[in-house]
Amino acid sequence: MNTISNFIGGEFIKPLSGKYLDNYEPATGKIYSRVPDSDSHDVELAVQAARNAFPIWSGMSVEERSAIMLRIADLLTLHLERFATAETIDQGKPLWLSRAMDIPRAAQNFHFFGTEILHFASETHATNQHLNYTLRNPIGVVGCISPWNLPLYLFTWKIAPALATGNCVIAKPSELTPMTAFLLAELCQKAGMPAGVLNIVHGLGAKVGAAITEHPDIHAISFTGGTTTGENIARTAAPMFKKLSLELGGKNPNIVFDDCNLTEATLQSARAAFTNQGEICLCGSRIFVQQSIYEAFKKEFLSHVGKFTVGDPLELTSKQGALVSKAHYEKVLSYIEMAKQEGGTVLCGGKAVHPEGRCAAGWFIEPTVIEGLTHDCRVNQEEIFGPVATLIPFENEEEVLAMANSTNYGLAAVVWTENLSKAHRVAAKLQSGIVWINCWMVRDLRTPFGGVKHSGVGREGGFEALKFFTEPKNICLKL
Ligand code: NAD
Repeated sequence: MNTISNFIGGEFIKPLSGKYLDNYEPATGKIYSRVPDSDSHDVELAVQAARNAFPIWSGMSVEERSAIMLRIADLLTLHLERFATAETIDQGKPLWLSRAMDIPRAAQNFHFFGTEILHFASETHATNQHLNYTLRNPIGVVGCISPWNLPLYLFTWKIAPALATGNCVIAKPSELTPMTAFLLAELCQKAGMPAGVLNIVHGLGAKVGAAITEHPDIHAISFTGGTTTGENIARTAAPMFKKLSLELGGKNPNIVFDDCNLTEATLQSARAAFTNQGEICLCGSRIFVQQSIYEAFKKEFLSHVGKFTVGDPLELTSKQGALVSKAHYEKVLSYIEMAKQEGGTVLCGGKAVHPEGRCAAGWFIEPTVIEGLTHDCRVNQEEIFGPVATLIPFENEEEVLAMANSTNYGLAAVVWTENLSKAHRVAAKLQSGIVWINCWMVRDLRTPFGGVKHSGVGREGGFEALKFFTEPKNICLKL
């Protein structure tokens, strides 16, 4: 059995308590490794290591830091197969997806921020009498807390800009998916990252996550996860005046107008609803379809969904893998039951899947499409975060905007229409941090990424991330 270690001060070490948590393989439902059940004492050790390393790391030239980050990107690419397999076993997602998306994107995160830092400039504001210029200094020791749905992808999305800007990091991956962050530590060593610059403390949110949030020497927290957890973190961090970036839940609308390219809209809407078992914060789970094409859309959409084979994520024929945990699997099934009670009709799926062989006890659910629910019922208002999508008909723009904007969330939205004016008009009125028109999940890492309302505070990506991880200091000189 694999035993995961913390990575503190450049060394792999056991949790101080000696305690471990079981780590499950979602596809089999069996324990396959052990993850440290760390606590505030391990976080304290990590903070000491990070404080000691900060003068070394922040004192290095930008070019030296960049070179180390680019080496990590190269090493990740070199070891893609090992990391992709580890991610799939740990998370339950199909291997083809780990290979095509998760691990390449993790490498790209290091490459992107490792080069972006070379182009990061600060402002000057001059008058005839004075010259103002702004320095952007690293914050010091920062905390990065990430979720289980895109484990290495989101872990590196946080730590890469933090490191590029010269901070030392205390990072905590989800206790449900710790494996690839553990493997990454080895690559950081190989790439020549000084000891103590990146510290990875594994364990439960309520222990390790809370200890990171509460620590007085950690001055910024970058968090991605659920809205309730974000609220708890904000409650602790706000009175301590910590910088906070919160990327939280979503319940994203996917709006299909009758003048869309139906072939493309049906195909991409199916992808948007069910990629990664629907466990992506950007998934379009509420599909609003204009009444005049509702039946035609439904027929074509269901025919795409019908091809999404569920099975062993290590088999390349499986379009969809297992859900991350038993608790999450039960939560998703309970929402399908709720949908029936709320008057919904299950058009396809709706049940657990028990593949033959090694995955018989895994946590699989069929891709499920439901119609007949009102836009304001619980199933259409609460985040399910699984392979469940609903179809909701609408008559006109005004009506669909009101329904799309009716949830507490505001992360991402998709609009399908060939009418350019309508596309811009609707996009501008959607309460959402991100809107895709005639596409889904196209990510240019330079763009601001984040949500409005209960989907979060702050933006990641591009220079926004470098700004978050630095403190501006204005200096005014009399000429
Ligand atoms: P979660 O909030 O349960 O956990 C996220 C991380 O926070 C984990 O590492 C967890 O251990 C830690 N944590 C838990 N309690 C904590 C506490 N009290 N203090 C500090 N840390 C704590 O979320 P999850 O179930 O891992 O992820 C699913 C959620 O993440 C969904 O709501 C999804 O929409 C959201 N998400 C958002 C984005 C985005 O970019 N907006 C991206 C991916 C996932």
